[in-house]
Amino acid sequence: MNRWRWYVCGVFCGLILAGSFGVARLGMASSAADVTAAMGSAMVAVDKVPPEDGKLRIIAFGAHPDDSEIFAGGTACLWSDLGHHVKFVSTTNGDIGHWQTAGGPLALRRTAEVQEAARILGNTVQVLDIHDGEIEPTLENRRTFTRLIRHWNADIVITHRPNDYHPDHRYTGILVQDAAYMVTVPFFCPDVPAIKKNPVFLYASDGFQKPNPFRPDIVVSIDSVIERKLDAMAELVSQFIEGGCGGSASDVPRDAADLKARQEQLRKGWLRQQHMDLANQYRDRLIELYGEEAGKKVRHAEAFEVCEYGRYPTKDELRTLFPFVAQQ
Ligand SMILES: [Zn+2]
Repeated sequence: MNRWRWYVCGVFCGLILAGSFGVARLGMASSAADVTAAMGSAMVAVDKVPPEDGKLRIIAFGAHPDDSEIFAGGTACLWSDLGHHVKFVSTTNGDIGHWQTAGGPLALRRTAEVQEAARILGNTVQVLDIHDGEIEPTLENRRTFTRLIRHWNADIVITHRPNDYHPDHRYTGILVQDAAYMVTVPFFCPDVPAIKKNPVFLYASDGFQKPNPFRPDIVVSIDSVIERKLDAMAELVSQFIEGGCGGSASDVPRDAADLKARQEQLRKGWLRQQHMDLANQYRDRLIELYGEEAGKKVRHAEAFEVCEYGRYPTKDELRTLFPFVAQQ
């Protein structure tokens, strides 16, 4: 059971051919003046970067418009509630992730879905104009990832581990790894100033065992925000209600009341359960981080493992990066 819980994208991320749509830059910062930065051979619009206000700056790279929301949506709530700046980048546009529709209309639909999720979670969203199922670890993409991390001036970067069933997850993980050192090298992509302090790079949890299983360095109680996370997930209707690329006509709600019923079922069912499973699986770590009494009480969790590339934080520094853990 554990094995598939974070693999939901395999069900929902499609295998049919599709078209494309323009780069979207969306989310909490979209009301501010945007800037467009030269991104090598491509032009990628980026949100106005947050102010240097002493708050943390977190950027997550998920392969599809739902991945970052799944693996870090609760922690994003906790960060954003403290005024920290969180950005989710979908590295593909999700344009084949449905059993019935594909191409530009689906990409736009999924972009709108993560925009609504971002409104609930408190993050900013950017969806890259790369076809679902087709991202590759190219030099061009390495430059794009490097520039996005630099623009955000990230303290923390989160992504998939590179051993994963889905090629988009795998190559997104590899691209982030490839950028982990290059973000500090001044003459790699010199059009965007190199980052001065190498970020901490984190892997999101998964159940894959080979070549090595996920081993969490930080497990976050998301009990205080689990309902908000479930609210956000329920907005990803194309994926979690209609079944993504693995769905069928029977998954499509008949009317608004049916949609609401299915969203309620989602909240009570496997989506909530997978967060409970994580808390139980990593109970020892929760007790270590939160103390015996509080750690035993945690019901819902997200978990992250420090990547060996980038800056390797001490235990004390890790607590400063996850201040809500230390406060419990
Ligand atoms: Zn995915």
